[in-house]
Amino acid sequence: MITLPEAYRPDPSFAALGPDFADVVAPVNFPKAEPRSWNHRWAREMGLDGLDETARRRHFHRFDPLPDNQSAPLAIRYHGHQFRTYNPEIGDGRGFLFAQARDSHGRLLDFATKGSGQTPYSRSGDGRLTLKGAVREVLAAEMLEALGVYTSKVFCVYETGEPLHRGDEPSPTRSAVMTRLSHSHVRFGAFQRHAYFDRSDLVGELAAYAVESLVPEAAAHPEGRGGGLLDSACRRSAELAAQWMAAGFVHGVLNTDNLVVTGESFDYGPWRFLPHFEPGFTAAYFDHSGLYAYGRQPESVFWALQQLGGALSLIAEREALIDALAGFPDHYKRAVRAAFLHRLGLEPLDDEADGAFVTAFLDALKATRLPFEAVFFDWFCGDQARALSSPRAETYKSELFAPVRDGVAARAPVRPERLAHAYFARPEPVHLVIEAVEGLWAPIAEHDDWSVFDATLEAISEARAGYDLGRGRPGFLED
Ligand code: AMP
Ligand code: MG
Repeated sequence: MITLPEAYRPDPSFAALGPDFADVVAPVNFPKAEPRSWNHRWAREMGLDGLDETARRRHFHRFDPLPDNQSAPLAIRYHGHQFRTYNPEIGDGRGFLFAQARDSHGRLLDFATKGSGQTPYSRSGDGRLTLKGAVREVLAAEMLEALGVYTSKVFCVYETGEPLHRGDEPSPTRSAVMTRLSHSHVRFGAFQRHAYFDRSDLVGELAAYAVESLVPEAAAHPEGRGGGLLDSACRRSAELAAQWMAAGFVHGVLNTDNLVVTGESFDYGPWRFLPHFEPGFTAAYFDHSGLYAYGRQPESVFWALQQLGGALSLIAEREALIDALAGFPDHYKRAVRAAFLHRLGLEPLDDEADGAFVTAFLDALKATRLPFEAVFFDWFCGDQARALSSPRAETYKSELFAPVRDGVAARAPVRPERLAHAYFARPEPVHLVIEAVEGLWAPIAEHDDWSVFDATLEAISEARAGYDLGRGRPGFLED
């Protein structure tokens, strides 16, 4: 067995919860193992960067257990509301929890798969992931991390050599297996499942696991385990929704099985970044009503939190749950001001003025239809001279932008030395609008040319280092 460095801190606590929470499953023996992505930064953080290609393959393609870790893969049990309809048929249908370990902040992280084969919850699905799906998840996670969003990471991807058939892609299409590193997979839907079967004991055990291992601040809450957990989930999810809004990100599928109690963003399917500010902008082609449109994300998250509250009502006082939920609108308002100012690199003034500034900023974005990402890039740390020499200078000088100019001038920059980073000398920021994503996928699909994908990841890395939005926060590494 290999010896791993001290930075590798295994802690398979979810498995210790026992068989009511997951099913033991077996990984597929894939015909091919072509390495497509390995997250060096996060591998180093988790003490796994010393693995050579043979060991990587053994653990992240064949899924042999990591040392002192989970002895077998576990398909996690959960249900969920999908587009507001309760579905008791779901669960980990194409993935499993593979291992757990602590990061240097002491956070308990899951190594979990996507595309690793069928499970008891696959229904009619093949349990597989398309290579394009894996590529898209890498891009979303990398970009969100660069934009300061609390997000899961893609740990690694192997292409697996199976022809897959999908209605929404030219078929057959290529297959992959991905390992994700997440601050838990304790979905709202897991509590819903146990409540559905009227198992208040399991709701209680899962809540105890969450409070002890994932959201420690909830332990100090006067309302006890259930109320405390919902309060934490409300605060953390409000922050997440605010971060998505400031990133111009549309998750696409905010079902209750795609939200976790740690408030970490995860599971990137039909996501899109906004081309320009547009509240009705929708990501998923199957979201016919625009339920999960950009501007409806905070409301969708709040609706999902209410379902979590319903499940927790088996173990908590009604009043405590109602109080926790009632806090969401204020948590969100506070978080959205903070998120926009953080992305712009500006100090806050006071709540009222900051709220008015964010509104004026979004009004200007809506009226001008400027490319969303470019506006943050141009105005980062409030440098008027830089903004006014950008390709968008004429619009910035116009009357429509006057409240933004004034609001920026009134606020001090935060760490303006960041503007010296090479990223800000680029003519344009990296922006993953759909055309960019399709543009980097086409050469891969047509002649296995990964150069545009690699160059995009390089540019995202530069954005991450340049913006440096995660400094000092758990979930972000120093560059
Ligand atoms: P999602 O909307 O991607 O979060 O997935 C919802 C449910 O569908 C989960 O239970 C997934 O495991 C399951 N699922 C999605 N794609 C597949 C597939 N190809 N095979 C089996 N299950 C799948
Ligand atoms: Mg999901």
